[in-house]
Amino acid sequence: MSNIAANLESVRQQLRSAAEQAGRDPQAVTLLAVSKTRPADDLRAAWAQGQRDFGENYLQESLEKIKALADLPLCWHFIGPIQSNKTRPIAENFHWVHSVDREKIGRRLAEQRPPELVPLNICLQVNISGEASKSGCLPEDLPALAAALDALPAISVRGLMAIPAASQDETEQRAVFARMQSLLNELQVQHPQMDTLSMGMSGDMAAAIAEGSTMVRIGTAIFGARDYGNN
Ligand SMILES: *Cc1c(COP(=O)(O)O)cnc(C)c1O
Repeated sequence: MSNIAANLESVRQQLRSAAEQAGRDPQAVTLLAVSKTRPADDLRAAWAQGQRDFGENYLQESLEKIKALADLPLCWHFIGPIQSNKTRPIAENFHWVHSVDREKIGRRLAEQRPPELVPLNICLQVNISGEASKSGCLPEDLPALAAALDALPAISVRGLMAIPAASQDETEQRAVFARMQSLLNELQVQHPQMDTLSMGMSGDMAAAIAEGSTMVRIGTAIFGARDYGNN
């Protein structure tokens, strides 16, 4: 428990110093605590330290935690791959979805978003490193995808998300994140409400912030190494 508090403080410090080094306001970068595989009590411990935004990858597991933590006003972000027959509970239970990479998924989320809720915020996931095995739409397909989904009032197209190929080299990391920033800038001409760059994880947070990230998704550095043994 106390580890989570100390880790969170350290991540916040790193976030602040990366933003300051880049001449950016630290408040412009939201810290998303990626809590996949973590028990609800770990999220509650992070909440007690002021953490409000949580990112989840696995639907069943996340729905259980959303229920267990319904007494807290948390902001839930779905960041994992989406099967088209699993969109309804996502549309009903989350505030943000970062992993929309095709029109069909965006349309289903819009159709299934309960009308009494505010529009669902979505990011378009980009396969920025061109890896054949990765989710994400190709950069050249972004304008058509953004145009199709921007027309749907039940969702709000807020920005782009990427999970670049892992690299230890900060120059390389920054080059990839800079491409994301320029893709966002191109889309903003048609879609000025797009204000979000969801990029940066435990291993490349500083590089992402240097290149304009507005949401970093941090798991390991907050909760420790993940154990997939029981999943
Ligand atoms: C697991 C995950 C993260 C967090 O990764 P860490 O390296 O543990 O910080 C971020 N984004 C996505 C999409 C993830 O699946």
